[in-house]
Amino acid sequence: MKVVVDLNLCQGYGQCCYEAPDAFKLKGTEILVYDYAPPKRLQGAIMRAAQACPVRAITVEIDERQEGEND
Ligand code: SF4
Repeated sequence: MKVVVDLNLCQGYGQCCYEAPDAFKLKGTEILVYDYAPPKRLQGAIMRAAQACPVRAITVEIDERQEGEND
């Protein structure tokens, strides 16, 4: 799984941090840091984070070949 956040779109609202705190964190008030290649166990939370982002800045790519590999 790969995660990309368009930081030009991101407004630092922080909804993703509430949905997936192990994958997304706000540094200060608006600098988002995140895991580019998170473990599969976070997939559900990350998908919810992508849905929750009000500006749709989060893109999630699921690589079927890596299913079960990086847990
Ligand atoms: S929810 Fe969206 S806009 Fe808010 S911090 Fe996360 S990526 Fe940025």
